[in-house]
Amino acid sequence: MLKVFKGVMIGAPASGKGTISSRIVKYFDVQHVSSGDVLRNHMLKNTEYGVKIKEYVNNGKVGLSELVPSSAEVPSKMQNVDGKNSTLHRFPRTRAQAEELSGKESITVALNLVVPFEIIIERVKGRWIHEPSGRIYNLEYSPPKVPGKDDVTGEDLIQRPDDQPEAVRKRLELYSANIEPVLEYYRKEGVLKEFAGNTSNEIWPKVYDYLQSYMKAKAALN
Ligand code: AMP
Repeated sequence: MLKVFKGVMIGAPASGKGTISSRIVKYFDVQHVSSGDVLRNHMLKNTEYGVKIKEYVNNGKVGLSELVPSSAEVPSKMQNVDGKNSTLHRFPRTRAQAEELSGKESITVALNLVVPFEIIIERVKGRWIHEPSGRIYNLEYSPPKVPGKDDVTGEDLIQRPDDQPEAVRKRLELYSANIEPVLEYYRKEGVLKEFAGNTSNEIWPKVYDYLQSYMKAKAALN
């Protein structure tokens, strides 16, 4: 059905990108490519690259974006899906990355999840992570099966100092500074669509309705 969907998913840390992306994959016939998943996979396997990026990912350290496009796997994983009918990318976090992606495929929709920062700060307070893999749990939305333990390895979960409200506020400010030029880029291309809400359940119906209409319109053209 979906013949020409080349989407990107944008949203602050803990805004629900993962949840909304997995629902898009479930309800629509699209392939999901997530640089965050690729990075988590490297950290899980403790590859040389995984060891190098761990500190950046776990501490929201500046400079990771420069390392991501130059990593061999992320761009080649992108190229592998190039040519498929429908792809949802969770890649661009900076304007340079957005331009890099546009050099490979023409993006038709940029979905931006807009969640108030105060809500995100509250959400992150309940977050526990399995540090070696980067797996994230939330006591409210996605608790581990055994409290304080990773579902896969059974190892201890930790709360990161970086998830404390003041640190989160700083990360969100950094995110805003990086993402504004990305949003501006897609706005100028005429493909930016914003979806606001406090929870993924509030945002999802809006995304679903939009994609349904989008697909119907595209199907009518084909
Ligand atoms: P995600 O779950 O997709 O938000 O990704 C988890 C973490 O991986 C993010 O908080 C970033 O630290 C990092 N990350 C993912 N994708 C990128 C990217 N394209 N450039 C830089 N960092 C990224």
